Amino acid sequence: MCGILGIYSDKNISKDLYYGLYSMQHRGQESCGMAVHDGKEINYKKDMGLVGDVFKADDLQKLPGTMGIAHVRYSTAGGSHMYNCQPLVGSLKKRNLGLVHNGNLVNANYLKEMLEEDGIMFSSKSDTEVILYMLARYYTGDIVEAIKLTMDQIKGAYSLVILTDEELVAVRDPHGFRPLLLGKRDDGEYIFASENCEIDILGGEFIRDLEPGEIVVVKNGELKSYNFSNKCKTMKKSCIFEHIYFARNDATIDKVNAYEFRVESGKILSQGDDVKADMVVPVPDSGWAGAIGYANASGLPLTEALVKNRYVGRTFIKPTQEERELGVKIKLNPLSRVLKGKSIVLVDDSIVRGTTSKQLVKSLKDAGAKEIHLRITSPPVKYSCYYGIDTPNRSKLIAAHKDVEEIREYIGCDTLKFLDIDGMMSAVGEGNEFKFCRACFDGNYPVKKIDKEESLGC
Ligand code: AMP
Repeated sequence: MCGILGIYSDKNISKDLYYGLYSMQHRGQESCGMAVHDGKEINYKKDMGLVGDVFKADDLQKLPGTMGIAHVRYSTAGGSHMYNCQPLVGSLKKRNLGLVHNGNLVNANYLKEMLEEDGIMFSSKSDTEVILYMLARYYTGDIVEAIKLTMDQIKGAYSLVILTDEELVAVRDPHGFRPLLLGKRDDGEYIFASENCEIDILGGEFIRDLEPGEIVVVKNGELKSYNFSNKCKTMKKSCIFEHIYFARNDATIDKVNAYEFRVESGKILSQGDDVKADMVVPVPDSGWAGAIGYANASGLPLTEALVKNRYVGRTFIKPTQEERELGVKIKLNPLSRVLKGKSIVLVDDSIVRGTTSKQLVKSLKDAGAKEIHLRITSPPVKYSCYYGIDTPNRSKLIAAHKDVEEIREYIGCDTLKFLDIDGMMSAVGEGNEFKFCRACFDGNYPVKKIDKEESLGC
């Protein structure tokens, strides 16, 4: 999972790219980068680390230009290397290309083998390099043609922003798995972004989400839209997990607002729940909106009982299990004065491996909580995601091999309840349920995996 951004303007945009990157830091903390076209060539900087650490004021001065792309990368196990940082930039027959990508392909390894047989040598392990080589192979001057030929070959999840010598191009895959939004600032200034917070921070106005299979080209200040295929109109399968966990509360993707969805999920979860408790406690920050919904609907007071160290990144993102466990301890400390002798409803957005909840329940009990009733505002994650959410190995998903009672026992809470799939779909709102991919919960994969090995994604 990653965050991407593209800006087309008539002014220097390196600072805008920087602020845009900053606002999407939650989408990836492993590495970041930006590439800017200065009218002659593409200059770039990328490195491991957070946006504020990688870019200094003089870096931005060295990256002048009016068209550019930017990326934050989320760490996946085994993929934590400088060579996987984006943007990817290359040139072929004097044509320059830059690319940022969010998503995972399901046939990247298959295509890679094919390209290697043609003598192509890869310098990264990411799916994105496969896309870059495909594009370069087909690009003889008409970028839309090259993209369509590439889209014929690549399968899976991809939102892309591509920088050429003449244009900025945004592409959303035929299912629209990963988000991609179009925004506008002044006349002839366009922004492509993973979330609206990037558009907002740049003083832009959200125009619309790209359609599945849509290719949008901005050239000479004009915007044109192309369709990969008419079939894509009925193929929409936007990722529901963006709304459950990944996107910021202020994100509205494919017309669903993450905050409203999360509050509604908490409300639905509380229905018919006759648990006797003193208060509702959110797991910060991912459980807050759901806990608000639960507390409002149940009438139980909402109380802060976990103090978060805000300077630690998302725990899940740490690559090894030991680091993940340590991460939870460093990140959340219980307020024993609030908890002593109390029965609490603890609300979080999801259980993936079970690490966070197990650690939390233990530390809340150690801090004096009498009973812990864990409420999860999404269904059990039973299947790996092949499209970019980092849950690739099924054997690691606790709900893939334990039922709810066994999970409760493992975690050590007094009761455990998940939102069911119907409840989740009601939280999305009427008429919206058919356009979401929920394969991680029900195993119905819109695109079958072709590669045998795991993909490292973007
Ligand atoms: P786990 O400890 O593996 O059960 O992870 C669940 C916790 O990590 C929850 O508190 C979620 O807020 C968060 N989380 C869930 N899914 C993801 C994901 N794909 N990437 C990062 N964090 C996640």
